[in-house]
Amino acid sequence: MDGAMYREILANNLLPSVRALKMGRGWVFQHDNDPKHTARATMEWLRKKHLKVLEWPSQSPDLNPIENLWRELKVRIAQRQPRNLKDLEKVGHGSRTNRRFNPSKRTPRRAAAKKKGAAADQKTSAKAALVHTCPVCRTQMPDPKTFKQHFESKHPKSPMPPELVDVEA
Ligand SMILES: [Zn+2]
Repeated sequence: MDGAMYREILANNLLPSVRALKMGRGWVFQHDNDPKHTARATMEWLRKKHLKVLEWPSQSPDLNPIENLWRELKVRIAQRQPRNLKDLEKVGHGSRTNRRFNPSKRTPRRAAAKKKGAAADQKTSAKAALVHTCPVCRTQMPDPKTFKQHFESKHPKSPMPPELVDVEA
């Protein structure tokens, strides 16, 4: 956006808004010191329209109340995870029917990451359960009972591994 575009936005929106809100003349316009705000032509435009502008310290965007709104907008858009311009347009068009903003709600990406983590955990525990390896044929088995049954049927002539002697098959 440049100064000309900014002035056009002001022209099309600022005074109509002031009228719509019935603010009269007892108001002061506030914007920060962004170059398009402080451009000579913009300052001249504001002066011609007899608009009072609040003096604003430099480099202090956080003091600008609109920044809180921009942040809220960014958070809500990020929750919808648009991947391209088309997605972004959908987010914009769907915004009126959006569910209420709920910061405690997990985003889909985090939920997916958690799901992935759970799947990995399952895989790990499944692997951990396969701790019984037959010393003869290297088959892995989930529990000692299965192991003993395996050993007795497959390797009846081999000496029983000591950890299987007391297992009830
Ligand atoms: Zn075996």
